[in-house]
Amino acid sequence: MNIIVVGAGIAGLSTAWSLVKAGHSVTLLEQGATIPNPLAASGDHHRIIRRAYRASTGYGALITEAYDAWSEMWGDLGENHLDPRGFLCVSREPGDEAEEYREGMEAGGWPIDLLDPDAAVKRWPFLAPGSFRYAYFSADGGALHCRRIATGLAAWLRAHGANVYENSKVTAIDADSGRVELVSGETLQAYRVVVAAGAWVLKLFPELSGELKTYRTALAYVEPPADLKAAWEAAPVILDVGGKTDGYMIPPSGGAGMKFGSGLHKVPTSDADWNREPVEGEGEAIRDLFSPPIARIQEYRVTEVVTCAYTFTADERFLAHETGRVLVVSACSGHGYKFGAAVGRRVAAAVGDGDTAGLKRWLRADLG
Ligand SMILES: Cc1cc2nc3c(=O)[nH]c(=O)nc-3n(C[C@H](O)[C@H](O)[C@H](O)COP(=O)(O)OP(=O)(O)OC[C@H]3O[C@@H](n4cnc5c(N)ncnc54)[C@H](O)[C@@H]3O)c2cc1C
Repeated sequence: MNIIVVGAGIAGLSTAWSLVKAGHSVTLLEQGATIPNPLAASGDHHRIIRRAYRASTGYGALITEAYDAWSEMWGDLGENHLDPRGFLCVSREPGDEAEEYREGMEAGGWPIDLLDPDAAVKRWPFLAPGSFRYAYFSADGGALHCRRIATGLAAWLRAHGANVYENSKVTAIDADSGRVELVSGETLQAYRVVVAAGAWVLKLFPELSGELKTYRTALAYVEPPADLKAAWEAAPVILDVGGKTDGYMIPPSGGAGMKFGSGLHKVPTSDADWNREPVEGEGEAIRDLFSPPIARIQEYRVTEVVTCAYTFTADERFLAHETGRVLVVSACSGHGYKFGAAVGRRVAAAVGDGDTAGLKRWLRADLG
């Protein structure tokens, strides 16, 4: 089958990878000048993979498939882009997100090491004594190196006969004919079109604005105090710092620096391209959300701020939408990267066998 994929974030790249493996003829169109596009949600250095999810969501159970899909991808790329350093959560208040994740791990029967504050501070000296209730570690997680994955996939696709075009912004899609119009005025046509346009999807399909909301956020890259560098180098990813911070941290990994991000630092927007230049003091504002439980927060020097745009559904699940020859996929809600390779395999399978209903159930982690 002749298939156009719009968007070379992790969803589009992985879908193209799996479609090529299934024998389809694939053209991948990316609006950015490079793959990855640094403005894409998948264009940053790293993202967290972890087993921990609230027990009710079903996504924790999908992680086994996520790991399996990444392993298949590493086999094809000839390189493993997962740093399996495990993850750490810190609970500061009863019922906070760290505690909900712990309950999800326990409900799934996945082991964790539970540490009281003294033991945790001894093991991870960047934590502030007396600022949290408990911490726990799981080896079931780490950091995925997104830029290396994107570069590797783009090269693999080209080597396996796919047409991969940068600077190819799609401006309109005719769902009935499968005709795609580019900003240059050129048109392309295919039997099926998969749209994996990330936060830009509403520019092509504004009818999805009832289901998908776009947000602008930013991440702060930091340099830790010199005496804590070794501790951070050896640290797991920090999935949640407890309380209401909705904060995560990725230590230096895969040649990239360490960064802080928080769900508190996001604002709704109707335009994925809005306000993509960091504003004065933004990195420091993000950093300061992390005290407590991080000790000596003012000594972390902000080195770079990266802005991102992403879409959420109301219940933070993933969705697919089919219209004519077009299948739109939005697997984000702030937690989609870790499923990228698995999403690609599932989307490609649905394009092949037509089971869009099954794809939608899987994307929603509706396993019942
Ligand atoms: C700050 C932040 C932190 C996150 N942390 C995590 C995490 O730790 N773990 C995790 O699992 N997930 C995380 N996520 C979510 C994850 O990054 C996303 O779910 C995932 O990257 C989305 O990939 P995508 O391919 O759907 O979209 P994108 O990566 O945004 O890719 C879409 C691509 O389509 C291209 N495009 C758009 N429109 C057009 C067009 N008209 N023509 C051509 N090309 C087009 C864009 O340029 C872009 O390259 C995080 C997200 C953010 C923003």
